[in-house]
Amino acid sequence: IMQWSLGRSSSPSWVQLAGHQGNFQLSDGGEVLKLFSPTEATCLELLMRDPLRPFVPQYHGLLTQGEERYTRLEDLLGGLARPVIMDVKMGVRTYQEDEMAKCHREPTLRSDMYHKMLKADPGAPSAEEHEQGAVTKWRYLRWRDTTTSTSTLGFRIEGIMMENGSVQRDFRKMLSLAQVTEVLLYFTKSRIDILTAYHCRLQALGDALDTSPFFSSHEVIGSSLLFVHDHSGKANVWMIDFGKTTPSPDRIRHDVQWAEGNREDGYLIGLASLTSSLHQAITL
Ligand code: ATP
Ligand code: MG
Ligand code: MG
Repeated sequence: IMQWSLGRSSSPSWVQLAGHQGNFQLSDGGEVLKLFSPTEATCLELLMRDPLRPFVPQYHGLLTQGEERYTRLEDLLGGLARPVIMDVKMGVRTYQEDEMAKCHREPTLRSDMYHKMLKADPGAPSAEEHEQGAVTKWRYLRWRDTTTSTSTLGFRIEGIMMENGSVQRDFRKMLSLAQVTEVLLYFTKSRIDILTAYHCRLQALGDALDTSPFFSSHEVIGSSLLFVHDHSGKANVWMIDFGKTTPSPDRIRHDVQWAEGNREDGYLIGLASLTSSLHQAITL
């Protein structure tokens, strides 16, 4: 019933499932080099001294190459033979609280965003928005997260690479937990050992998040869980992508819905639904 678009990446010794292709390089020493972002580098520094350290790629500082600066990261695909990879973007929203505040300070009407909305769902704009032929940016950002499982389940599947190198990025349209469970079965070829390893790892992650000073003090937006396994049964999950993760003046709970101003990201809502989907996949 489900149809996914297929793309092929060229001999993937290392593969990138999200982000701009120019932002990454593999170093000679086998490290992943990601284009430097001060926000992300600050997070990685803190994470190296946090209970979450075993759940993030090891951070080896910066590297300057010509004009560009890169963060040096452990290659999470190291040691895997023909890895199978899934990038899951966590949280109930994908824009920062500060972006939303800026939208309110400068409420401009955007016809480009109206047209994107119209194309995705002709019924989405209101009568007034049709009339104006434009929407506000804050309206667009909020709407966009309702077109995926982000606002309801607290995560969305960004992409999957299977062991033959085929990359599929159409899972964002999976809206229900049952659909996600189907994707998990497909991704793991229903292997119970792999599903169970993922389930255990997510539970351990949950425990670490509970005690993490980093987690309770940061608004975590646009960050992903990277699932990786291979046919031998090696399986692991990692937290990646901290480019939009920022310190919050108030403690963040992560398990309540977002209301403008509370900075809540719903990360734990996503972790709970993902864990229960994995549980379903194991017990089906
Ligand atoms: P975006 O913000 O659009 O999601 P980005 O440029 O911030 O992208 P990331 O999300 O950090 O980039 O990473 C993009 C992809 O690169 C991931 O989905 C994953 O496939 C791969 N990747 C990133 N970091 C690592 C790593 N340390 N080891 C192995 N693969 C990685
Ligand atoms: Mg990402
Ligand atoms: Mg990013």
